[in-house]
This record gives sequence, structure tokens and C-alpha cells, in this order.
Amino acid sequence: MTKAEIKLVQQYLKSKKLYSGKIDGIAGSKTEMALSKVKPLNSEWNKTRKLIATLQLYCKENKIDVGKIDGLYGPQTKYAVDALIFKLENGKPEPVWRPDEIEEVNPNKWPSQSESNLNKYFGKPGENLVIIDLPYPLKLSWDKKTTVTKLKCNKKVKDSLESIFEEVLKTYGLKKIEELELDVFGGCFNIRKKRNGTSLSTHSWGIALDFNPDKNQLKWGRDKAQFAKPEYEKWWKIWEKEGWVSLGRSRNFDWMHVQAAKI
Ligand SMILES: [Zn+2]
Repeated sequence: MTKAEIKLVQQYLKSKKLYSGKIDGIAGSKTEMALSKVKPLNSEWNKTRKLIATLQLYCKENKIDVGKIDGLYGPQTKYAVDALIFKLENGKPEPVWRPDEIEEVNPNKWPSQSESNLNKYFGKPGENLVIIDLPYPLKLSWDKKTTVTKLKCNKKVKDSLESIFEEVLKTYGLKKIEELELDVFGGCFNIRKKRNGTSLSTHSWGIALDFNPDKNQLKWGRDKAQFAKPEYEKWWKIWEKEGWVSLGRSRNFDWMHVQAAKI
């Protein structure tokens, strides 16, 4: 948890008259004492979990959908906390982020992103991988002088991915692709945990791709992320027509990331 988030918790505790210490973002003994009085937190939870759960309660009281009050900091909590901060700073909720034209289609029947669904549909992480040829070269985001013309992905996404790249080339042309940095590639297959959590990232199955991570950083919203700009609308439509999900377009974070799994 960040200091700013702990301050939010302290603010909340103060508003409930459970805490009279400083709003300093340091979870010391006074804060801990106050946390023990918060209902309905599980008294068995450790301090961090209580802090997170209290933050979740704060979101819930502000009518922000935070899911279960479980003290676990997953993507939904992250999303809710961002919405809470926006609401507290602006005095009103964030306008609902629903770009009118996300096509809710799923022609390839991508599964939803739970680990068991993904294992069933795509095989275990590291299995069923194939190499595809790209119709235009991609530059590696961490070493832009290196270009690749092939990438490794799950065989179930092969056809879809190939047609997406073809379509992008047809729609934008090479020059525009370079100008918009649609060719800056941040990776596909990679067995790893999600950056904010403990479950496996969809990259582990070779069904997610990242583009231009430097300009579409994990925590950046549409006000900052490059791929939220209108000139990328067609890019996203191409992916969405194939049922791929942009976390940026649907959740307003991780704008670099697109995946063949529903959330
Ligand atoms: Zn990603």
C-alpha cells in the first residue's frame, strides 16, 4: 500500500471517530488500534489486510463497486481506489468510462480470465506455443534498435493475431504505424505474476501482448496514456472485433495490454 492510500484509511477512520492521530500515511500503533475497531473486519487479519479492507469499505461507502471486502489488493480494488481518489478530489464520481463503441463480440469464444478457464482453453502456461510471422517488424520496447518479425504466442490465438496484424497494416500503413508507435512491442509470452497481484498474468499463456509500455504505463489512465488518444480508436476496434480485451479501454489502466481473454 502507498502512503497516500494509508492516509485515505486514516481519514476514513477519523471520520468514523475511531482515530484521532495524524493523517501522516504511517500505519503506527494508533492506526492499528483504530483498525481493530472497524467492523466487519476479520480480527485474524494482519495489519496490511485490515488496511486494505478498510480502504475497500471507504470505496463501498462511496458507492464504488469494489467487490468483496476481503483485504486483498487485486485489480478491482485498484480500480475502485482510483475512482475513490477521483471522487474525493473532484467532489463527484469519475464519468463512467465506457467508450461508446466497444464491441461486445467474441467470435473466437475467448474464455474469461480465471486460471482454470485459461488452462482448460489454452493449455497450461508454456504449452501449445507457436511462432507467427508478422507482416511488419516490431521494435522491442526495451531495445528499440532490435526489431523482430516473429513472435511466440498460443496456437489458439494464432489465426486471430495474424489477421489483426494484417488489418492494422492495411488500416494504418507502415509509416503511420511507426509514427503512432504501434510497432513498439513490450512482449507476449512470458510466465509471470500479474504486476499488482499474486495470480498469473495472461502473458503466461501467450495470449496477451503489450505495446509501447513507456508511454502507456500500468497506472496511467486515459488522461495520460498514449493509446487512449483518438488516433488509436481504429487500432482498438481491430482488436475488439476479434474479441480481444484492452484493459485500458475497459478498465482505464494498463493501456499497453491487450488479451484474448474476457474480464
Ligand atoms: Zn500485459
